[in-house]
Amino acid sequence: MEKRALITGASRGIGRAIAIEFARAGYDLTLCCIRNIEGLENLAKDLTDTYKVKCVAYQADVSDPAAVRKLFDKIDPPSVLINNAGISYVGLVTDMSDEDWMKTINTNLSSVFYMCRAAIPHMLAEFSGKIINVSSVWGESGASMEVAYSASKGGLDAFTKALAKELAPSGISVNAVACGLIDTDMNSRLSDEELAEVVADIPADRIGKPAEVASVILSLAESTNYLTGQIIKVDGGWV
Ligand code: NAD
Repeated sequence: MEKRALITGASRGIGRAIAIEFARAGYDLTLCCIRNIEGLENLAKDLTDTYKVKCVAYQADVSDPAAVRKLFDKIDPPSVLINNAGISYVGLVTDMSDEDWMKTINTNLSSVFYMCRAAIPHMLAEFSGKIINVSSVWGESGASMEVAYSASKGGLDAFTKALAKELAPSGISVNAVACGLIDTDMNSRLSDEELAEVVADIPADRIGKPAEVASVILSLAESTNYLTGQIIKVDGGWV
């Protein structure tokens, strides 16, 4: 099987850790992010030098269908698609603007539709492929002050399960990894005190590491296609 992965939101946090994990496992990589293209290009160069894989970086806003089409015009189609890019929004739902609502839903959910729609034809032709979505435990249980975020991830979970059924006859698996609290910039707004309060509720008694999420995603990519339609929690037993 081809070993070619496309990872969205790879400039930092979980996406960056996934890129490192897959390069180490010998995958050629297409990486994208929305802003820090210089940082992403440096990562791509490091991974190429260290692991002797082909690794290219693109700036692309995955919430924009035209940008996703343009990206796919430039790249070799992936055998593994990892939809990791996401944003959070914290605040009362009554304070949320139309723009912030749409931005959250488009970045976390519509982007996954655009990416899958572009990636699936090649996977169908190969009668194989893996789609792995990065979700959140809030997609199932919901979080106060994160209504739009929870709705986007709940939608992503349903998208994952439905698409898995649609693509299983074609040898393509679709799964999601639902993260708990992972140590990335996305959580930098939390004070040390707030962080300690959350950690007190996590049975594993600590925050998760991006590399831990990345290793679960790699094992999904290397697993049987009979494992499909699953939302796998990586949350230290939290939710
Ligand atoms: P992060 O903020 O550190 O990184 C987000 C990445 O997404 C960046 O590379 C950014 O460039 C990219 N991105 C954002 N909007 C984009 C767009 N429109 N187009 C292209 N790229 C875009 O976040 P993270 O913590 O690494 O989160 C990665 C994923 O994990 C997200 O989907 C997030 O919802 C999910 N998640 C994170 C946590 C956590 O505790 N960190 C918990 C649950 C789920």
